[in-house]
Amino acid sequence: MNIIIRSARLRGQHQLVDIGIDGDRISAVGPKLPAKATREIDAAGSLVLPGLINLHFHADKCLLGEIMRPNVSGTLPEAIEITNDFKRNYEPAEVAARAVRALEAGVMNGTTFFRLFCDVGTIGGLRAARGLLLAREKMAKYCRVQIVSFPQEGIIRDPGAAELMDEAIKEGCDIVGGLPWYEYTDEDARRHIDICFAMARKHDLDIHMLVDDTDDPNSRSLEYLAVKTMRENYQGRVTASHCGAMAAYDDVYAAKVVDMVGAAGITISVNAHINLTCSARLDREPRRRGIARVKELLARGVNITTAQDDVNDPYYPFGKPDPLECASMLAHVAQLTLPHELETAMDAVTVNSAKAARLTDYGIAPGMRADLVVVGAPSVHEALRLQPPRRHVFKDGREVARSSLSQTLLA
Ligand SMILES: [Zn+2]
Repeated sequence: MNIIIRSARLRGQHQLVDIGIDGDRISAVGPKLPAKATREIDAAGSLVLPGLINLHFHADKCLLGEIMRPNVSGTLPEAIEITNDFKRNYEPAEVAARAVRALEAGVMNGTTFFRLFCDVGTIGGLRAARGLLLAREKMAKYCRVQIVSFPQEGIIRDPGAAELMDEAIKEGCDIVGGLPWYEYTDEDARRHIDICFAMARKHDLDIHMLVDDTDDPNSRSLEYLAVKTMRENYQGRVTASHCGAMAAYDDVYAAKVVDMVGAAGITISVNAHINLTCSARLDREPRRRGIARVKELLARGVNITTAQDDVNDPYYPFGKPDPLECASMLAHVAQLTLPHELETAMDAVTVNSAKAARLTDYGIAPGMRADLVVVGAPSVHEALRLQPPRRHVFKDGREVARSSLSQTLLA
């Protein structure tokens, strides 16, 4: 064997195990493997997870916070306006350089798979897409990357955007994006969704849209997305991010939509922290949390993920980016505090995200891809509580990052 990670703690198992790696695959998992390896790592009872996943990240906008004017209203519309000023003059190399900085930080935090969103539309053309395609190339040995061709200014609102989205896919983007709630009317939102499905069918691609990302209780794009997914037999191939309007829906209507989302097999990416920051800015008190109805969706068996949507950009000034922090934020906002609920929060940035991305070789078992992270904590609970250093990060069986933290309380 090339590598053995000794004394690893896997989720849901009491006995410590060794993990053997050969080439880019996990070759053996079991207690006290007798084999010897070229390199042996002592996990000493630390939690070992499959590589963490960030399924929703606007890497083209990341770190604009270092150079932008402040978002005074704190709202999405002002964030969109600020970003547009940069987009007019984007250079792919500059976009790639910012994206690479954030991706490197994410890898050091144990992320080995990213789904990046690039703004495609008549303001920025294909410049953001080309920047992220370049970043993917530069980061290929550190992480796997999918890129969403994403119409940030809408499709009906931005004539020409659909053609550019198609062009971005031809250049290498591999997911069809969408932003139906941003259209001016319900009818346009439905047309927007129809156009995205036609594009996805044409190229045989999955769909990842930002849906009902508003406090408006009348926003109806999730309902139509669910119907469309069922009618097109696209179950299991559609992810909807945010869906914060669910917090404003009437309870009876929400129950109907939750059931439809379940029937359509749509994954909901909650991204709770960004909504907590941007939503309900027009509310007095009590202020809504503006996040999807996580517990109701879980009760219906809906696949739930969460992700680091933004890293220091016009929408959100924070973001390390660290999937464990995102999982912890989800646990806070959705009130997932019981032991089995903490497991659900961890699922959101691991197995649930893998399911949404339809990764067939994800997990810690023989034959699976050797993307692994040794977390400096003995349990899921402690990993979420402390978000400790990721002691070792492996991608395709190669160690790609290492972290440690030294703290001393002085006398
Ligand atoms: Zn987003």
